[in-house]
Amino acid sequence: MARLKDAVCKLCRREKEKLFLKGLRCFSDKCAVTKKPYVPGQKAKMRLVESEYYTQLREKQKTKRYYGVLEAQFLNYYIKATRKKGITGEILLQQLETRLDNVIYLMGFAASRAQARQLISHGHVKVNSKKVDIPSYQVKPGQEITIAEKSKEIQPVQEARETAGSITVPEWLEVDFKALKGKVIRIPERADIKAPVNEQMIVELYSK
Ligand code: SF4
Repeated sequence: MARLKDAVCKLCRREKEKLFLKGLRCFSDKCAVTKKPYVPGQKAKMRLVESEYYTQLREKQKTKRYYGVLEAQFLNYYIKATRKKGITGEILLQQLETRLDNVIYLMGFAASRAQARQLISHGHVKVNSKKVDIPSYQVKPGQEITIAEKSKEIQPVQEARETAGSITVPEWLEVDFKALKGKVIRIPERADIKAPVNEQMIVELYSK
C-alpha cells in the first residue's frame, strides 16, 4: 500500500496548521505546530510573496495530507467529481470523507487516519459483515461498519475505545462504542465536513 513517507509533523508545519495525523499527540502541548509554529526549511522562510497558484497548490497539498491520499489518487477523485452533477469541490470532499479509513477514524475506532488504514489493511474491519481491507473503499448510506470480533481486544482498538467518550461523532454517522460498530446514515453535506480546506481553490488549481 502506498503511503505518505514524510515525517508527519513536518507535513502539518509545512501547511502551518494542525492536520491531526498523530492521534492523541495532536491534542497535547507536544504538537510540533504548537512548539515550532513556522514552516520548516530555509527556502520556505525566504518566500515572502505567495502567488495565487502557490496558495491553491498548498490547499491541494494540505487536503491530500489531511486525508492521507497520494497525488494520482487525489486527481482521480477530482476527475470523478467533475463527472458528477453538483458542486465539484463539495463532491470531491464527500468522496474523501466517505473513504472507509476516514469513517473508521471519525467513528472513534482509531486514533488517526493512518491507524485506521492499518486496521483496515490488516483485516480488522468489516462492512455489512464482510471483511474489507481496502482503506479507500467508499462507504455508502445504510452500510454497517464493525470491528471484527477477533480484533476487538487488540491494543489500538482498546485505546480508541478508552477515549471514545471524548470524541464528537459527526451527525451523518451513528456509532455504538460498546459493540464497536457504526452506520453511515447519509452522505455528509459540506457543513458536516470539518476538514480545514477551501475546496474551491483546489478546483481553480485543476481548472487552469
Ligand atoms: Fe500535526 Fe499532530 Fe504532529 Fe501536531 S502532533 S504537528 S497536529 S501530526
